[in-house]
Amino acid sequence: MTTFAELGLSPKILAAVEAAGYTSPTPIQAGAIPPALERKDVLGIAQTGTGKTASFVLPMLHLLEKGRARARMPRTLILEPTRELAAQVEENFVKYGINHRINVSLLIGGVSFEEQERKLERGADVLIATPGRLLDHFERGKLLLTGVEILVIDEADRMLDMGFIPDIERICKLIPFTRQTLFFSATMPAEITKLTEQFLHSPVRIEVAKASSTAKTVTQRLVKSARKPWDKRAVLRDLIKAEGDELKNAIIFCNRKMDVSELFRSLVKHGFNAGALHGDMDQRARMTMLSNFKDGNLKILVASDVAARGLDIPDVSHVFNFDVPVHAEDYVHRIGRTGRAGRSGKAFSIITTADTKHLDAIEKMIGEKLEWLDGDLSTLPAAEEAEDTSRRGRNNRGKNGKKPRDKDNKANQAQTSPAEDKTTESATSAPDISALDAPQPILPDNIAIRAMAISETVRPAPQKHGNEERRHNNGQHNKRHRRDFDDEPSPLGFGDDIPAFMLIPINI
Ligand code: AMP
Repeated sequence: MTTFAELGLSPKILAAVEAAGYTSPTPIQAGAIPPALERKDVLGIAQTGTGKTASFVLPMLHLLEKGRARARMPRTLILEPTRELAAQVEENFVKYGINHRINVSLLIGGVSFEEQERKLERGADVLIATPGRLLDHFERGKLLLTGVEILVIDEADRMLDMGFIPDIERICKLIPFTRQTLFFSATMPAEITKLTEQFLHSPVRIEVAKASSTAKTVTQRLVKSARKPWDKRAVLRDLIKAEGDELKNAIIFCNRKMDVSELFRSLVKHGFNAGALHGDMDQRARMTMLSNFKDGNLKILVASDVAARGLDIPDVSHVFNFDVPVHAEDYVHRIGRTGRAGRSGKAFSIITTADTKHLDAIEKMIGEKLEWLDGDLSTLPAAEEAEDTSRRGRNNRGKNGKKPRDKDNKANQAQTSPAEDKTTESATSAPDISALDAPQPILPDNIAIRAMAISETVRPAPQKHGNEERRHNNGQHNKRHRRDFDDEPSPLGFGDDIPAFMLIPINI
């Protein structure tokens, strides 16, 4: 087995690695570090959890030992798709750079430009950035990329999913051709291959694990549910309760940020120690939430894929898919949050009759049939779905039996079920703000409640069955639906996030 000493790293770095408690390099580290130290380009096909961050941070530290940074001219640049990942890489520089004096600057959205400009002015040895914010600074003339010696592009396939490839291409062209490029991606779709052909020079290719496999240590189960959100929430609560003390901490994934908010509020209302993580929360709230989860102050984190992708949260005992992911490979990434480093983990996916297509795609991708916890969808009581539909029909009609106008109807449909929350039943036109009034659990540092104050508003639910509305809206419905996925840019102004107080009807 290779040792860190054999990789050619400097004594300062070896000391830091030892202090971190690592005894031997992981396969991506053993493969990527030697060519990186020789200033060769590297193409690493590896996902998070494989130790890939250290595989570029360690050689960078080594190469940065000589020379120093000049104002506004960073010496190295690391591009990350999300703010959390960028912050995580920064943490790695702190951890492995204990014996170095280097300036690391973070350029991410949600933080003031001025503070970031001051740091750039001081000179950065390492600049860690999300593509949009980097280009913003560049366009303001606060940044010169001509001094960049090493460029790292991390999580390239995620950048593709998020529509960042044109930005990446632009940035690559702003950096000298003679730079060294270290490029990492969990998968290699055609667009990414094209990008590597364009911007890497005879790279050394290291492939460590396929994104299409889930850890053998994870027990995966499917759990049937009726389709309504409140039915799914009830199923989820039962699952959590049934796991008892075995559940040390859990991440619950939703597909859309709106659903993250709703599920989070519902869980808090039901007394669970939960927090939320999605793209619309401001940076401070996201970091606080994440560190509280990492420290064990929060037991449950409700998250969207974008917010949670690649986060290094050690030892998560459970993953729940409240929604089945639309992209099969997201399933692998989600499940990858548990069962890490040989530990055992459990993953439950809540499945409704609407999910069969996506479930098929997942099973095809991972190459196995997933087991049902307690009977498959055919064992779902037919009455349950029927009852559900008729209840919806009743609730959607006013006193005279007519459907209420769309505007009122939207407010009516704040998605807390009548069964789940009696207070909603009597609310004919007001939105469901009962969750805010419900008794709150006592949480360390009042985390969940504070986060709710920062990021939560009551939103009208999308009209999934409203053909009428869809026609009237000239396709607006579809746009709104798409925008709510967490990899879309946040809307301007209130967007879909209309504060609760603005939805309360008033008499004029
Ligand atoms: P990453 O894939 O970079 O997100 O790393 C996943 C986890 O592995 C992090 O918690 C690292 O601290 C840890 N790690 C990285 N390198 C090693 C190593 N050589 N031995 C043990 N753990 C490591």
